[in-house]
Amino acid sequence: MALLDKEHLRRNLDEVIWNIEKARITVSEHHIVQLIAVGKYTEVDNISTLYALGQRAFGENQVQQLKERMGALEELPLEWHMIGSLQKNKINNLIDLRPNLMQSLDSMNLATELNKKLVSKETKMNCLLQINAAAEAKKSGVKPDEAFDIYQQIKESCPHINLKGVMTIGAHTKDEKRIQKSFETTHNIYEKLKNEGASICSMGMSSDYTLAIKCGSNLIRVGSSLFK
Ligand SMILES: *Cc1c(COP(=O)(O)O)cnc(C)c1O
Repeated sequence: MALLDKEHLRRNLDEVIWNIEKARITVSEHHIVQLIAVGKYTEVDNISTLYALGQRAFGENQVQQLKERMGALEELPLEWHMIGSLQKNKINNLIDLRPNLMQSLDSMNLATELNKKLVSKETKMNCLLQINAAAEAKKSGVKPDEAFDIYQQIKESCPHINLKGVMTIGAHTKDEKRIQKSFETTHNIYEKLKNEGASICSMGMSSDYTLAIKCGSNLIRVGSSLFK
């Protein structure tokens, strides 16, 4: 971890924005993509520099780190996303942080627990259903063939969870065809869920965000390319 100067971060951000622009235009000139800057590998000062350059939405993959950063940067009008696996014993902490979007709701079981605690705290949370699109053993998320039913089940039985769409992490491989397939699988589910009110399809990280956008992603989570 190192402190990056403003001009350095500006070049990184410009490059990512330019790549987004080139990819999104292949989908449609009306296709808008939101960029979430993932700060988990970088220092908090680099986050405030990126804010000064115009970036507003940030993501963290651990509740503790999210809490520290939200606290350190509370003066700034930032949008915060939780993007990592949520352990059951951290649910209350996350609720108290009131993140804008919790992207990693990865099972019916977690949804039930989260809903219970949201009810007792009399609040709601915006969430995405995480899909394990390539059915990888090490990855969390629901199976693609169960995603549609689980999404509806959560909507019916967890009224304090506002489901906004889906999230996936691209297949862990160098084989671009397989990565593309995992994005297409997720985007197909998203298309079906639009009738259920889904509006966010979160796919793409530093190594694969242009491919994800071409497959229909409208929210990307980028860390290393911004803070390298
Ligand atoms: C770390 C992380 C990212 C960003 O990864 P980079 O490869 O650094 O861009 C995106 N999504 C999730 C869920 C992550 O944990």
